[in-house]
Amino acid sequence: MEMIRHRIGGEETGGVSTRTAPVWDPATGEQQAEVLLAEPGDVDAAVSAARAAFEEWSQASLSRRAKVMFAFRELLNESVGKLARIVSSEHGKVLDDARGEVLRGLEVVEFACGVPQLLKGEYSDQVSTTVDAWSFRQPLGVCAGITPFNFPAMVPMWMHPVAIACGNAFVLKPSERDPSASNLVAELYAEAGLPAGVFNVVQGDKVAVDALLDHPDVAAVSFVGSTPIASYVHTRATEKRKRVQALGGAKNHAVVMPGADLGYAADQLAAAGFGSAGQRCMAISVAVAVGDSGDGLVEEVAQRAREIKVGPGLDPESEMGPVVTPQARERIVDYIGQGAEAGARLTVDGRELEVDGGGFWVGPTLIDQVEPEMSVYRDEIFGPVLSVVRSGGLEEAIELINRNPFANGAAIFTGSGYEARRFQRAVEVGMIGINVPIPVPMAFYSFGGWKDSLFGDHHIHGPEGIRFYTRGKAITSRWPATNAAGPGEAGSMNFPTSK
Ligand code: NAD
Repeated sequence: MEMIRHRIGGEETGGVSTRTAPVWDPATGEQQAEVLLAEPGDVDAAVSAARAAFEEWSQASLSRRAKVMFAFRELLNESVGKLARIVSSEHGKVLDDARGEVLRGLEVVEFACGVPQLLKGEYSDQVSTTVDAWSFRQPLGVCAGITPFNFPAMVPMWMHPVAIACGNAFVLKPSERDPSASNLVAELYAEAGLPAGVFNVVQGDKVAVDALLDHPDVAAVSFVGSTPIASYVHTRATEKRKRVQALGGAKNHAVVMPGADLGYAADQLAAAGFGSAGQRCMAISVAVAVGDSGDGLVEEVAQRAREIKVGPGLDPESEMGPVVTPQARERIVDYIGQGAEAGARLTVDGRELEVDGGGFWVGPTLIDQVEPEMSVYRDEIFGPVLSVVRSGGLEEAIELINRNPFANGAAIFTGSGYEARRFQRAVEVGMIGINVPIPVPMAFYSFGGWKDSLFGDHHIHGPEGIRFYTRGKAITSRWPATNAAGPGEAGSMNFPTSK
């Protein structure tokens, strides 16, 4: 059976690892490979390689860094199909969806190609007589990325292209459930001319994560995953005085107003609720039906949910694939049961779905009459389960969203500019969609939630990514005509003021 190993200092290596985890084929339920799980010694080797490479890479000119990024972009573009197949086979999502995630990651690489423009500083001429002031930003050193299973290509690309273009070295710890995409990315970087050690991959689990969080040579940690682990990562790494951005889980609401086009809203809700089997941090998991929109909406979404073609991700006919592991399936099925027991109405029950083969299948599930105290509403289920909550009005819907501790994305479907504007201003979440169900910002904006969906002060990629991976320096310089002090330039015992 294939063994998936680490990429450290430009080499594929097993390091000192002996523990392994299974990599499943979620469509058949069979194990397709094993992945090595790093020990602290492997993490130390990766951080050392990155630290050594940083010395040279941080001195590389902006144009050299941009050239490597352009070359990487070209190679990645040629590899979209290959990468998408890898993602689909380990994650389970359908091939076109996997291709979409690679393309969204590619957009971040394109953003990073603009690093000479993005790192321009500020300059003030003559802030005092013969004195100029300016600021610029410098890289941090070794940055670590710890990423979730649900976007094994795109989420790491929210991080490493920006970090590397800014002059840092990077150690990526991808999810152990779908580890192979990151190793291909390491090969592409090497081919693009990135010096060995600037981008490293350690495969692993909590042991590797903890070793990265504690390592004295790791300057910054970017994490994306579930809220409990994001909170843990943030606490542990900030205690070690690292810069941390830790993006957590989500419970994204879509409010459907009575004046919305119900057919359009139902199309969007079915796609955003059940696409990628609901395993997206921007999936819609709660539809808030306002006023008399409820019955019609439920009927329309239910019809679409029943028509979705569920099957293996690599089958071009499939619209939705399996979920990632047997444990994920069990958890989702359990939540659906809890919803029914709590008195919600199972309008479409995905537990009844049967697909040939032994994969980890759960069909699209629509639960109506959900109340906020039910576990199906409160918890992030991370499966193809859409709950419908009925609401009396827009203000009640906004209050519901604002009471929820998760605050990643929220959407409104409406035909009213007033309602849209009220919603976008009053809702306390990081990313808002107006008649757009999955408002993932473009690469040149920044991505991130509020409240329990983000620990730390920086959103990811875009301008905030550049800020996260660099630190500012302000320079004040004096160049008089001669070295001799002119009038008013002699040393003063008083605090300096401009002249
Ligand atoms: P996860 O939190 O289980 O794992 C994320 C990473 O943390 C993995 O690399 C994993 O190996 C590591 N990890 C797991 N348990 C750990 C522990 N106890 N200590 C230290 N490290 C640990 O998340 P997941 O199941 O892989 O991904 C799904 C979650 O990620 C969902 O909650 C989803 O909402 C979230 N997510 C959020 C965003 C966002 O932008 N906010 C994006 C994608 C996914």
